[in-house]
Amino acid sequence: MAGNRLVLVINSGSSSLKYQLVEPDSGEAQASGHIERIGEDASSVPDHDAALRRAFEELARDGIDLRTCGLVAVGHRVVHGGNEFYRPTLMDDARIAALEKLSELAPLHNPPALKGIEVARTLLPDVPHVAVFDTAFFHDMPPAAATYAIDRQVAERWQIRRYGFHGTSHRYVSEQAAAFLDRPAGGLKQIVLHLGNGSSASAIAGTRPIDTSMGLTPLEGLVMGTRSGDIDPSIVSYLWHRADMGVDDVETMLNERSGVLGLSGERDFRRLREMIESGDGAAQLAYSVFIHRLRKYIGAYLAVLGHTDVISFTAGIGENDPAVRRDAVAGLEELGIVLDQRRNLSGGRGARQISADGSPIVVLVIPTNEELAIARDCIGALGA
Ligand code: ADP
Repeated sequence: MAGNRLVLVINSGSSSLKYQLVEPDSGEAQASGHIERIGEDASSVPDHDAALRRAFEELARDGIDLRTCGLVAVGHRVVHGGNEFYRPTLMDDARIAALEKLSELAPLHNPPALKGIEVARTLLPDVPHVAVFDTAFFHDMPPAAATYAIDRQVAERWQIRRYGFHGTSHRYVSEQAAAFLDRPAGGLKQIVLHLGNGSSASAIAGTRPIDTSMGLTPLEGLVMGTRSGDIDPSIVSYLWHRADMGVDDVETMLNERSGVLGLSGERDFRRLREMIESGDGAAQLAYSVFIHRLRKYIGAYLAVLGHTDVISFTAGIGENDPAVRRDAVAGLEELGIVLDQRRNLSGGRGARQISADGSPIVVLVIPTNEELAIARDCIGALGA
């Protein structure tokens, strides 16, 4: 039976549900799918219950019966674990209730994941359901990086700290980078740049993250597809006082109508590139702001780490956009980063080196695989 066991990984967001059936031992994905526009209009699936049923129908159409295929666990990606959840956690009624309370800390992100867990437990009651948290990897960051310099009592009362997100990806990519270099992760200092619709950077010393760009929520840090990343917090109260925008309006603007989309009208980097090439000034500015912020974080993390062995690019943009990689580190030769432009441009899908052979800092492209990392975390949590 071993070797044939499977984990169903579910990533349930507010308007989409991604699933993947993973063989954790080999790392192979047996099936995957993406159900979009949940509850958006009359023609789409109405809710998460219907979306998950749709996923199961799609699997059945592929000839996969979840009751007989060797399913050993269902792994659920949950964005926010708060202070309480920082290990892959077997879900039961009590823990679901505790997670529900945590939704206050992540009202935009946790409720759809909880919904996914509830529906999946009903549909697959006989397998263990394990929650894997995006914040987990960053739980033990040094206090100097995790602490906001605000009134300490307020921060404690309301559990305000830098939690960090995309942790599953940052951990996976840093491990893969060490494996690629054939060096123990414990001896490396790394910067990981996860650049997708959501983007984040992390500084990792050995196996321990020592800083990351996202904060209390995934809004902080880099410029993203639709999120602003770092802003002066006074902008919120300024708009509230002067522009008659409620806090919810401002929050929606910062999360959904800012970032590259807010500046250019487009969030997808492939189309943004076409717009830049056709001379669109707003697209050029959006790109410049994105790159400027990214370079600031690279510089900051070089200083935070003191010495860096490797910088890895990952996720949709990091893996596929050579111009972003080029511009992120252009002119940083004196800091030890020498890109090989030919390597950077030559496509390829696997892990690859894009720095020149003599570059003091090795620059890599490492495809992330959060589903596989979640599946393996589930197996670990079950001691299977
Ligand atoms: P998510 O955060 O939704 O998981 P991804 O990691 O899949 O996002 O990244 C999605 C983004 O990656 C897209 O919005 C797009 O901007 C970018 N992207 C994907 N493929 C390419 C490509 N070939 N060139 C440039 N950008 C790309």
